[in-house]
Amino acid sequence: ARKFFVGGNFKMNGTKESIKSIIENLNKASLDPNVEVVIAPPALYLQLARDTVDKASGVEVAAQNVYHKPNGAYTGEISVAQLKDSDIHWTILGHSERRTLLGETDELVASKTKAAVEGGVSVIWCCGESLEEREAGNTVAVVERQLAALAAKLSAADWKKIVIAYEPIWAIGTGKVATVQQAQEVHEAIRKWLRTQFGDAVADETRILYGGSVNGKNCKDLAKEKDIDGFLVGGASLKPEFVDIINSNQ
Ligand code: 13P
Repeated sequence: ARKFFVGGNFKMNGTKESIKSIIENLNKASLDPNVEVVIAPPALYLQLARDTVDKASGVEVAAQNVYHKPNGAYTGEISVAQLKDSDIHWTILGHSERRTLLGETDELVASKTKAAVEGGVSVIWCCGESLEEREAGNTVAVVERQLAALAAKLSAADWKKIVIAYEPIWAIGTGKVATVQQAQEVHEAIRKWLRTQFGDAVADETRILYGGSVNGKNCKDLAKEKDIDGFLVGGASLKPEFVDIINSNQ
């Protein structure tokens, strides 16, 4: 069985004070032990987060991005080795905000994912369509195009260190969550694609998360779907209801 997974993407939010307090609340909360929880604060606060998380809680800390080159003249970037050196073992990659606002291509995201996995950092790899692409009936084609660029660089073993997050762009930060059916349909298509390309083990073991306006109320129904293995949460991960989302699979 796939272990339920809940990620908190803080995006460019928070201060030393607020991030510390969010994590202290998580430390105090009673979290379902059958859930893998990973929080992603801004890079500046990774070490603060790592030092504040109660090790016994099992909560892990992720970067929101990492570069694929090992070192050198890449101003503003952080390497996989630097994450590991800072005791950070996860990163988000390919978030739609980086794809659209910062021009990251399918290929760049794939290169970064390969570099992270090779360097021993696990990846929450994001994909998803725009409203225009959905309305044109291209949802699955877009996600498969994003996946294909990744697949070109990966071996079956690499998938052990990857969690997929399906995040329809029109649902991110809009309050417009995908319906249970819309999400399940795409998750099923992704799993089918994994089966065709990489075989049964990868398809059956890879977690596929849903992201986009998940909150303490809508998470329970989504969590019941057979191909929804957890969530990547933005706004609500900064609030006390994040605990309800973590515990939504009980
Ligand atoms: P919201 O939960 O704020 O819609 O953001 C989703 C997201 O982009 C998580 O990566």
